[in-house]
Amino acid sequence: MKIIVCVKQVPDTKGGVKFNPDGTLNRSGMLAIMNPDDKAGLEAALRLKDQYKAEVTVITMGLPKADEVLREALAMGADHGILVTDRVLGGADTWATSSTLAGAIKNLEYDLIITGRQAIDGDTAQVGPQISEHLNIPVISYAQNLRIEDKSVIVKRQFDDRYHVVKVQMPCLITALSELNQPRYMTPGGIFDAYDVELTVWKRENLKEVDDSNLGLKGSPTQIAKASDKVRKGAGEVVKLDVSDSVAYLMDKLTEKHIISL
Ligand SMILES: Cc1cc2nc3c(=O)[nH]c(=O)nc-3n(C[C@H](O)[C@H](O)[C@H](O)COP(=O)(O)OP(=O)(O)OC[C@H]3O[C@@H](n4cnc5c(N)ncnc54)[C@H](O)[C@@H]3O)c2cc1C
Repeated sequence: MKIIVCVKQVPDTKGGVKFNPDGTLNRSGMLAIMNPDDKAGLEAALRLKDQYKAEVTVITMGLPKADEVLREALAMGADHGILVTDRVLGGADTWATSSTLAGAIKNLEYDLIITGRQAIDGDTAQVGPQISEHLNIPVISYAQNLRIEDKSVIVKRQFDDRYHVVKVQMPCLITALSELNQPRYMTPGGIFDAYDVELTVWKRENLKEVDDSNLGLKGSPTQIAKASDKVRKGAGEVVKLDVSDSVAYLMDKLTEKHIISL
């Protein structure tokens, strides 16, 4: 079985997000990590490798520095790493990102593709399902559990208030939730070995069946017009009212902020 895992290098947003004066994300001011959902997806793939001797390839699109995330995946146990990097791919929105990744994946054989549910920087959760559309294969998103049965994947798919168990034939794409598992640590030997592995680096010309009009900033139907930090909460307000007036006051405030609707 051949498994491809899409991993994205993201700024660690735990300590807050930093912006440059022009409103763009200050990536160099934040620690770069493997996106948490992708790490769970990779762990799921590595467990299938342990169980069925699956071959696991990790792929990322990003700046040359994104090779770090591939080395980390190799140190955890992945077999191959592919970095897709080219100036013309910069500024991609989700459409251009998924077109690029699908164009790269078209060079490979696969039974199963795993992406994270969502990247903690872009937060759109669109790239996985879009890749499946480009490749014309079924997708099941929000996997909180998965197992293989013959040529199918059985996925426990999370909903707000329930879950569904869905069976899908391979080849297919699954988007993983970080709740899927507890990812393993890199091993010291794995880290040494990972630095000896030659990564595959692909540029624009290595992408299959993709038009220039679908790549990079030029091929992005959406443009970020403005980015800003969260508006800070103002100071609290103390109001002294009797009980029934307090209730009416609170209801008014909550309605005004669209937290409840009456
Ligand atoms: C106009 C515009 C300009 C932008 N410019 C930039 C820019 O210059 N630099 C930049 O970094 N971002 C840029 N972005 C953000 C970029 O579009 C998103 O980061 C990207 O499209 C992925 O979307 P997402 O982060 O919401 O991923 P999601 O859809 O939330 O990700 C879902 C899953 O898809 C996979 N995935 C997503 N992206 C990648 C990737 N690159 N490689 C491998 N797997 C991936 C992962 O498995 C991930 O868990 C720009 C966006 C817009 C709209």
